Amino acid sequence: MNAIDSKRIWLSSPHMGGTEQKFVKEAFDTNWVAPLGPNVNGFEEDIETYLNNDVHVAALSSGTASLHLGLKLLGVTTGDEVLCQSMTFAASANPIVYLGAKPVFIDSEKETWNMCPEQLEIAIKDRIAKGKKPKAIVAVHLYGMPYQVEAIHRIASEYRIPVLEDSAEALGSSYHGVKCGTFGDIAILSFNGNKIITTSGGGALVSKHQKHKEKSIFLATQARDEAPHYQHSEIGYNYRMSNITAGIGRGQMEVLDTHVEYRRRNFDFYKKHLGDSSEIKFLEEPSGYYSNRWLTCIETSSYKLREGIRLLLAEENIESRPLWKPMHQQAVFTDCDAYLNGISDDLFDRGLCLPSGSNLEEDDLYRIVSVIKNILR
Ligand SMILES: *Cc1c(COP(=O)(O)O)cnc(C)c1O
Repeated sequence: MNAIDSKRIWLSSPHMGGTEQKFVKEAFDTNWVAPLGPNVNGFEEDIETYLNNDVHVAALSSGTASLHLGLKLLGVTTGDEVLCQSMTFAASANPIVYLGAKPVFIDSEKETWNMCPEQLEIAIKDRIAKGKKPKAIVAVHLYGMPYQVEAIHRIASEYRIPVLEDSAEALGSSYHGVKCGTFGDIAILSFNGNKIITTSGGGALVSKHQKHKEKSIFLATQARDEAPHYQHSEIGYNYRMSNITAGIGRGQMEVLDTHVEYRRRNFDFYKKHLGDSSEIKFLEEPSGYYSNRWLTCIETSSYKLREGIRLLLAEENIESRPLWKPMHQQAVFTDCDAYLNGISDDLFDRGLCLPSGSNLEEDDLYRIVSVIKNILR
């Protein structure tokens, strides 16, 4: 088969479960076409139930908006410094800049590819020695793999710095049986089109404190004081989720666990068919870690091989992508300090994300591994 008549295989595409339209129709039938309504409340309750652990959820317009409000609730403001995992999507770091604060980037460790506890502690000590204690820590569960929760939170509480847990890619993952999205002083989720469940676009702020939920909804709906007229004593945002999108979310929550199962099955398939090669490595779950395997990523033996695989897949109409380019390498953040050990640079050179949608069929998976096997041979 050649690329022209072969079907395009995407990295991670939306996968509807079937009941989404029922909730959306209800919203139309009852004229709840607004950034509030029964689907918004229902979706929040669904997530609260799913995450368990006594959390309160505010459904917002995106993961990025949730990070923005989360950092604001943690008190981040102009002139502050925020420690942020370097290897991540830019949306983890951009909201720090929205608030007039400055990101300071922290490299990864090899076990989970997430924030390195050693570099984190070195950075905290160094910033304090330089006269400025960091205001918050943004730690990310990349590709669904939990970060070293115990180590990161032990350091954070030792120095009394709050953690914003970026769980945008990790809904359905857990650490020693506790769901990701419940560890941070505040956590965020994303329901963007490429995530494990989607509302087409959306996000949520998660906290153990009801007052965080209330305050984030207040800020997300233009910060209106209680008064019959429009009255404001704070700057507000238009960040609330709409009742239509939340309807999609309610349907998606019904299939979240099957999506996790399918994505984990993709990982197992790739590992079974490519795991024997000495030129490819898979990220294993350390004991007690459970990844939703949002994306299956491989570590190849060289940049050259990684590019070879990526380009050959592209020729066959198959989308793949290098791992996240670390923030300390991004032009937009060149003036930010970073605490580095070389690990994220190396992963960026040699790592590749393979198609991982929960809607991939077995034929698609066979097509992908046969292309990769061709180049390994
Ligand atoms: C997707 C993503 C975000 C942003 O979420 P949006 O809903 O797209 O705004 C933030 N952090 C990480 C790690 C992400 O993958």
